[in-house]
Order: sequence, then structure tokens, then C-alpha cells
Amino acid sequence: MSAAVDVAVIGGGIAGLAAAYELTRRGVSCVVLEESGRAGGVILSERIDGFTIDAGPDALLIQKPAAIALCEELGLGERLVPTSLPRFAYILRDERLHVLPSGSVLGIPTRPGPFLATSLFSWRGKLRMGAERFIPPRADTADESIGSFMTRRFGIEATRYLAEPLLAGIHAGDVDRLSMKALFPRFLEAERKQGSLLEAFRRTAHARSTAEGAFKSLPGGLSEMTDALVAALPPGTIRVDAGVLGIAGAGPFEIEAAAGTRVSARAAILAVPAWAAADLLRGRDAALAALCGEIRYASAMTVALAFRREEVAHPLNGSGFVVPRVEAPRMLAASWLSSKWPYRAPAGRVLMRAFFGGMRDPDALQMSDAQAVDRAMEGLTPILGLRAQPLLARVYRWPRANAQHEVGHLDRLAAIEAALARHPGLFLTGSGFRGVGIPDCVADGRATARAALDWLHNRVDGKREANQPRTLHREP
Ligand SMILES: Cc1cc2nc3c(=O)[nH]c(=O)nc-3n(C[C@H](O)[C@H](O)[C@H](O)COP(=O)(O)OP(=O)(O)OC[C@H]3O[C@@H](n4cnc5c(N)ncnc54)[C@H](O)[C@@H]3O)c2cc1C
Repeated sequence: MSAAVDVAVIGGGIAGLAAAYELTRRGVSCVVLEESGRAGGVILSERIDGFTIDAGPDALLIQKPAAIALCEELGLGERLVPTSLPRFAYILRDERLHVLPSGSVLGIPTRPGPFLATSLFSWRGKLRMGAERFIPPRADTADESIGSFMTRRFGIEATRYLAEPLLAGIHAGDVDRLSMKALFPRFLEAERKQGSLLEAFRRTAHARSTAEGAFKSLPGGLSEMTDALVAALPPGTIRVDAGVLGIAGAGPFEIEAAAGTRVSARAAILAVPAWAAADLLRGRDAALAALCGEIRYASAMTVALAFRREEVAHPLNGSGFVVPRVEAPRMLAASWLSSKWPYRAPAGRVLMRAFFGGMRDPDALQMSDAQAVDRAMEGLTPILGLRAQPLLARVYRWPRANAQHEVGHLDRLAAIEAALARHPGLFLTGSGFRGVGIPDCVADGRATARAALDWLHNRVDGKREANQPRTLHREP
């Protein structure tokens, strides 16, 4: 197959799909070249025996509205559901689950009552955390790790039992390597402007607290969103099993993909993981490729298990639990999908997932399916009181899927942007670069599409106003 389009989007994860959607809305012809046999990237929902399993991500953060707004544009607004009540999240300590104090924002307590009452921290730990108000802001503006920041402000217990499993845990990352500047700039701003996170978060938590909680999802899993995106694109836009092998030329770009696919495109958006971008850029610009290759990725494995309700002793009253590195390094977390969201399991059944791998256990993906299920059962049984073998078990592997924005990431990104300027018409998006979560990937994919469009307009007609929609090139 060969085609000529305005823009080739390489990679059909959420960032690439969002870019293609934005281009299509603006009347620009594009094609999405995807290596695997389906679009969606790490977003994958399966419906099996009445269970709806999100194999990868399951939640859209409300506070960053780009993904929710996209669902609304796609006609899915009415289907978005908030997390079910009660919205408890647990942390494992000393082989027991301790509820995260209510009113916590990203683990930072905002209400003294639940914080003082929690069994999660020792009294010494609570005193040290409470003393955060008196810790002066750091004068140095250099980037630092989440671990360094949290220990400096709240003490080591807060790092071990909050920051490591929660803040680094959502990235399957290493608390001592992930960047505060790239991932939690709001914390740094609170420190700088208000001198104390406890104070800053206490004030904003009141304004922000919403009846809907912090996350939303879709009853059919997040694949509903990627399926709707695919359906919103003209037929034939997505080419699966079309892994890109090489990009030649400089606008038009001559793109060679698997199975003899060839695409000629005036601009190209690379929406692949940074390590894949490095592979594609190496022949063109070794320095740029090296910068992309420095962005590390963690691999993750999810094991979905279903039981009859009576086979699980725990009430599963909440969204699940996280496991601090100091407690049991083999399991990262477990989420109780059927308690967290409505419509995930038939009546009388429960569905849960255990997470393995991450920077903590890079070899986890080597386990066979049977070993992974055994490890999940071993980890969950003493905590949840599992009384039977699972009715259903599914294992999903996500190799090199979680981008790690480590200390210095923003400087590396600036160097990447500067190097990319040497290659007009080439653009980069996706979780490796400007934002990791789905909302950031949607926002950046769309913004990158607009940047590509501006570039095409300026190229076609220097006088034309940027961002004016116009068809530049239609696929024959
Ligand atoms: C297990 C897990 C759980 C997560 N949970 C959440 C969550 O609940 N909420 C949230 O907001 N975020 C979550 N995240 C993060 C978020 O899902 C991802 O960061 C985001 O989906 C990445 O999207 P992407 O398009 O950048 O990359 P990907 O989804 O990785 O897509 C990149 C695509 O590029 C393709 N590709 C690679 N090389 C080539 C090539 N040479 N040619 C063509 N195609 C190629 C790949 O096949 C892939 O489809 C989670 C991530 C994981 C792994």
C-alpha cells in the first residue's frame, strides 16, 4: 500500500489518536501507522464472561480536563462515571491495610482529624509530618527527586508510606529518581509561594472538593474512548500491523512501514515511546536520538482475577491498595475494579487486579502466566482472605510502557526541542515527553497536531494566519 497525506502520525496510542483526531477536525489528511494489530496503545479493555477488564489504565483524572473534554466531544459525556463510594484507598503496612486519611490530596493530608486518627503513621512520623509548616522553603531551584523533596519537607516515613507507593507508584517508578519539576510542579509552587504544602493544600482542598471524586471512567473500560476516536476518523486512517521501519527525506517525508506500506507525508508526528523515537531518528540525527534514548521506561504487568463475592473475606470497600517498597517489594498495588467502578462485574462477582514490575522489579515480565497468577494469589490471599481459586485470570504485559520523567527531565526536553528545530516538519508527542497521564497525552497530541498544521500553513503560504483550518493535501 502507498499513500500521500499531509501528516503521517506514527504510533496509534492515545497521543497519536488524539493528534489524528485534531488534524481530521481541521480538514487535514492524515494516516496513523501503528505497529501492533490494534489502536489504543496501552489502553485496552476486554469484556470476558460479563467482566469488563481494563488491562492497562482505567482512570481519567478530572483535575486535568483534556481527556474528559475529549470524551464529551466524542459523544461519551453521558457515559462517564465517577468512582463508586466509599472512596477509600489503602496502604499496606505491617501486613495490614490502613486507609489513606480522608481529605488527602495526592497523599498530602488536608484535614487534621483523619490524619491524627490514622493507624498508617507512627506518632513520631505524624509529628514530623505536622512540622512541615515550619520547614523553610528551599532556596536552590535545581530539580530534585520526589524522595528528596518529600523527606526534606515531611520526613522519611512520609516518603516510605506516601510518596513512594502513591506518587512514584502511579508511574511504576523509583521515588529517588522521578523529577519533582516534571511531575509535581504544583508542590514546588506551593512550597515557594506559601512556604508550606500543608497550608496550601488545606486551603485549595476546600475549594476543590467535589462530590464526584478525583477520577472518571467509562462503563466499557477506557477502550470506549479509543474506539470512539477511531470511529471519528475517516475510514482507512488507521493502518495497523504497520510498524514504521524508517523515515527518509525532509518534507515530503518518505515513510517505510511493515508489510510494504509506504507513505509520503509533508509532516510527520512521532507519537511512539521515546525509545522507539530514538530508533527512528538515529540515522537522521544521532544527538537527538541519544537524548530520546536517555528517557527511561518501566515495564509493568497486570493480573486480573475474578471471584464469587463470598470467596473474598475482605469487604473490598474502596478502590484498592498500594504496597510500599519497604513492605513487600514483589507486588506494587492491587485495584478492586468492581468496587472502584460500576458495571465491571456481574452481580455476586468481584473483579480485581494486581500490579507487578515497575522500576522495583524489572524482571517481573519474565514470569509465565501461571507464575504471575500464583504470585498474585500469594500476595493477595493473606490480605484479602481469598478462599478459592479465581473464576477467571488474565495476565497482561506492558514492556517499556511507563515513561520515567526523572530528575533533569525538563532540561532534557528543552534539549530535545532545540534539536528537533533542526528538522522542520518533524514533531514528537506521547508520554515520554511533555506529560505522562492520559489527559496530558490527549492535550499534547492535539497541541502537536496544531503545531504541525501551523508549520504546514506557514510553509504553503507565509502570509496565511497560523491555525486557520484548510485542506492542504487530500489522500487520493
Ligand atoms: C499499566 C498502566 C496503567 C496506567 N494507568 C493510567 C491511568 O489509570 N490513568 C492515566 O491517566 N494514565 C495511566 N497510565 C499512563 C498512560 O496510560 C500512558 O502514559 C499513555 O496511555 C501513553 O500513551 P501514548 O500514546 O504516549 O503511548 P502508547 O500507548 O505506548 O502508544 C504508543 C504506540 O506506538 C506504537 N509504536 C511503537 N513503535 C512504533 C513504530 N516503530 N511504528 C508504529 N507504531 C509504533 C505502539 O505499538 C503503541 O501503540 C498507565 C500506564 C500503564 C502502562
